Amino acid sequence: MPLDTAIEYLKGVGPQRAEVLKKELGVFTLGDLLFHFPFRYIDRTRFHRIGEARTEGEQYQFKGILRRIEVLGEGRVKRLVATLRDDSGVLELIWFQAIQWLERSLVVGKEYVVFGRLSEFNGRFNISHPEMEEVSPDNLQSARTFDPVYPSTDKLTQKGLDAKGLRKLLRTLLDGLTAADLPETLPDALLAGYRMVSRWEALQKIHFPENQSELDAATRRLKFEELFFLQLRLLQIRRRRKDASKGFVFEKIGDFFNGFFREKLPFELTGAQKRVLKEIRADLAAGQQMNRLIQGDVGSGKTVVALMAMLMALDNGYQACLMAPTEILAQQHFAGISELLGELGVRVGFLSGGVKGKKREAILEQLVTGELHIVIGTHALIEDWVVFRRLGLAIIDEQHRFGVEQRAALWKKGAGLPPHVLVMTATPIPRTLAMTLYGDLDVSVIDELPPGRKPITTLHKTEHHRLRVQGIMREEIAKGRQVYVVYPMIEETEKADMLNLMTGFEALSRDFPIPEYQISIVHGKMKAADKDFEMQRFVKGETQIMVATTVIEVGVNVPNASVMIIENAERFGLSQLHQLRGRVGRGAEQSFCILLSSFKLSADGRERLQTMVQTNDGFVIAEVDLRLRGPGNMEGTQQSGMLRFHIADLGRDGQILAAAREIAAKILEADPGLAAPEHLRLRTHLEATGKEARVWSRIS
Ligand code: ADP
Ligand code: MG
Repeated sequence: MPLDTAIEYLKGVGPQRAEVLKKELGVFTLGDLLFHFPFRYIDRTRFHRIGEARTEGEQYQFKGILRRIEVLGEGRVKRLVATLRDDSGVLELIWFQAIQWLERSLVVGKEYVVFGRLSEFNGRFNISHPEMEEVSPDNLQSARTFDPVYPSTDKLTQKGLDAKGLRKLLRTLLDGLTAADLPETLPDALLAGYRMVSRWEALQKIHFPENQSELDAATRRLKFEELFFLQLRLLQIRRRRKDASKGFVFEKIGDFFNGFFREKLPFELTGAQKRVLKEIRADLAAGQQMNRLIQGDVGSGKTVVALMAMLMALDNGYQACLMAPTEILAQQHFAGISELLGELGVRVGFLSGGVKGKKREAILEQLVTGELHIVIGTHALIEDWVVFRRLGLAIIDEQHRFGVEQRAALWKKGAGLPPHVLVMTATPIPRTLAMTLYGDLDVSVIDELPPGRKPITTLHKTEHHRLRVQGIMREEIAKGRQVYVVYPMIEETEKADMLNLMTGFEALSRDFPIPEYQISIVHGKMKAADKDFEMQRFVKGETQIMVATTVIEVGVNVPNASVMIIENAERFGLSQLHQLRGRVGRGAEQSFCILLSSFKLSADGRERLQTMVQTNDGFVIAEVDLRLRGPGNMEGTQQSGMLRFHIADLGRDGQILAAAREIAAKILEADPGLAAPEHLRLRTHLEATGKEARVWSRIS
């Protein structure tokens, strides 16, 4: 039976069940059902030890001697209680029904196989209404099953398609298929080289394995296949785009770049900065449009790299722009870059929604005439009325804050050809995810911090330690340093959060009174001008404490700030915590990040805070984040609903992904068109699944 056969034609389905299968599971065809994989399995091929069973709600199978049987209670609470013992512990078994019959048939001293769901009561584990079977020589060997459990819903259950019903359908489906219905998609050499089972076998065994090792083999093969074809597709797109997309050639390194490098650059570049600049330089001279992502932890010095890339564009007679996600950040870039450039003769302008009237007209005019070399700003830069004379390079800071369309809008502003594009992010994305999400971008990593920075000391404190925390604040302020105090602000709970922020601000104002102390406050509800004013006071050192919501998260640079206090830290995601922490530790002195939380924490919350305390490495943090939250929720991935897999899990399958990518790259290297006979299967499969995959080309 071909896999595109409509699901109603499967024996046991029919029009009514077909309807629910479509609505509830999106199963329209036999093929869809085949790829409705079990989400877990009940392993009755082996026995657990009583002493090791710990997870409430899990199903377990034990083998042990029945010890004691008693009828307890009266009336409604009347129950039969027995104990089962193996050499590791005892377990209570409870029945509320069929008491008399069970009391007669169960025999103390005999050995039983017991299966059921574990619960805990008064600190003791028990199973109520377990399946019981007396141990005999043959039931230990045979009839021990490894059963798939399928995701189901109420509506499906009503139609008899609970986990068991689905199991039966899958059995029928697989019995009706032959190896010819599920042709192999991977070359034989690859199967042999990586010791993978055939597709036919994998699809059988993913549903009905006989034991764990068969399941593992099937899982590995199917995960590999899924990730491999994804990578093959992404790498193909990237090759094609590289072949097709012509770009400006910036071959010259001229006066701007050299002048800056020799006379203005106030520090030695780190090795990582130099390496990334070389990569950019090579891209810009290659004749194709650059599409490069720079990943670098907060404080790793991305700005100066961006600036030097812009100077390369200028040296070749082109303009450049730098777009930042917030007004504050854009202004800081403008101020910082203008200062770095000094009297070099580079003309830099600033443009945001707040720049209006004559000022705006002047900027726009100078962009058209080419009088302005560089423009730095916010989203305003992508508006239609912003026209460049010769835009050659567009840089986007904190790229995950921008949507795909916004980035695409910059492309159109080039002079004949699209400008080279450089996107920068301080949200480290784990390698596995970057490979997939940005599979068709080139990625550079600045994995080295400028010298002389002391690692930030991170502490986790609860409410009880507030006085101690204030002590640290006082000490640091006495040394002339500054302090951030950040509150969560989440849309759904905005009112309560606002109150929390204000209460916190008032308490701080009492504990740190004027005139000895000055406190700034910045939050999203303030007018842009007020925000700015407060920010500036803090930047200039006129205030020692900055109370804020996460508006300061992105990019703000005050090297003199040495303490970051995060209130209700358990409510922040890991990447946000890491971003916030990156606001301090920018000078040479010891800095602190203090995570305040309530005493009671969820398991995830605790792991997040512990991770922060243990490491400063953004990539390690990103890996943990990916594991805790899953790829769909990672910052920077929201736009990619296409990270949906049947079986692969980017959080866990990094190794398989890396192998899959490497193999895919090798194959394309040797045979870009997949024209060789041994690649026929690959080509066939790519073509057969091409339609659903078209979305991929739109990811970045
Ligand atoms: P981010 O990567 O977070 O955007 P920035 O570009 O803001 O980091 O740089 C952080 C700070 O480090 C800035 O004050 C910058 O001047 C400084 N800096 C950058 N590169 C170096 C370097 N190679 N040596 C010393 N300081 C550097
Ligand atoms: Mg930055």
